[in-house]
Amino acid sequence: MNSVDLENITKIYGGTTPSVDDLSLTVGDGEFFTLLGPSGCGKSTTLRMIAGFIQPTAGRIRFGERDVTALPSHKRDTGMVFQNYALFPHMDVTGNVSYGLSMRHVPKAEKSQRVAEALDIVGLGGYADRRIDQLSGGQQQRVALARALVIQPSVLLLDEPLSNLDAKLREETRAQIRLIQKRAGTTSVYVTHDQSEAMAMSDRIAVMDAGVLHQVGTPREIYRRPATSFVARFIGRSNVLEGTVEETEASRLAVRLQGGEVLFAPVAAETVSSRVAVGDQVALSLRPETMRIEPAADDTATPVGAIRARVRMTEFTGSSCVIWLRYGEQDLLATIPDTDDLPEEDQDVMLRPDIERTWVVAP
Ligand code: ADP
Repeated sequence: MNSVDLENITKIYGGTTPSVDDLSLTVGDGEFFTLLGPSGCGKSTTLRMIAGFIQPTAGRIRFGERDVTALPSHKRDTGMVFQNYALFPHMDVTGNVSYGLSMRHVPKAEKSQRVAEALDIVGLGGYADRRIDQLSGGQQQRVALARALVIQPSVLLLDEPLSNLDAKLREETRAQIRLIQKRAGTTSVYVTHDQSEAMAMSDRIAVMDAGVLHQVGTPREIYRRPATSFVARFIGRSNVLEGTVEETEASRLAVRLQGGEVLFAPVAAETVSSRVAVGDQVALSLRPETMRIEPAADDTATPVGAIRARVRMTEFTGSSCVIWLRYGEQDLLATIPDTDDLPEEDQDVMLRPDIERTWVVAP
């Protein structure tokens, strides 16, 4: 079993503020697992602790049943892919990929065969004799991936491997990495600050901020059911409105916003919505595509379940329209299917969030 278990991991480099604060999570066998969060949130520190390059200040790390906390990096059996490739420029592709096998004294015939297989897996079968400087950035990153995979690591660790590639190549390469990982079935921990990359590639994502884990879940869970307002804002685009719980029923909550309007949200087991009481401060996450827009006459009162907002700008994106709105002091976004009947700028509209897709988060 090549799972990775982090148990109450803390890392304090110096001073008192932890860079990683009491982090616990489990990466399943064969899973593609991403650590996601803004720069400085502790992703690389976590990855480097898994690799064994640095020691946690507290906590335990297990690979399967094996406690590797005190094990030096070269005995952990991990493959690592870095942002800057870290290839040997004076060696050809074969030299780079076979390096780890030579270090492990793998016999020559087996070495050639494994290098050929690894290059095949990353789609560089015909490039064995190329010099590194004759390859594009994307190809170099695939060599780095082959070099990490050829040692058949129990865990593959990838630290922002796409950030030096241009946008188009980044998308192509991320799809390739995902396919290669699926085929090899290697348990993988991937670090990125790019939420769309994380969403596209991962089986599950851990969202971190300032050393603290906010949520672990599938891309869909994290998008649809963010646990905190940080997750709601960081993943996709979301409107986060704060308010006070006014009524709780078995299946739904009524929340009074600061402007006085009332919106509803479903109560779901084991989430913030199931733990709140009347009078609690909460925040509602409203995804832009879950709101209906209706015209609002000047003299109509705002009905329950809706808010009144002013249109600032509309944008046509092809398949949909994005509507930028102002609600009190806050900017909101709504996306609707393309229509010839778009609201005008400076017009007031009623926004009706879909109750089932409104989500209660910790403020
Ligand atoms: P991320 O990978 O999410 O950008 P890092 O893990 O690199 O974040 O850093 C987390 C925090 O730890 C940051 O505040 C960073 O400044 C600090 N940090 C990282 N490496 C060191 C180090 N070697 N010495 C001291 N502080 C460090």
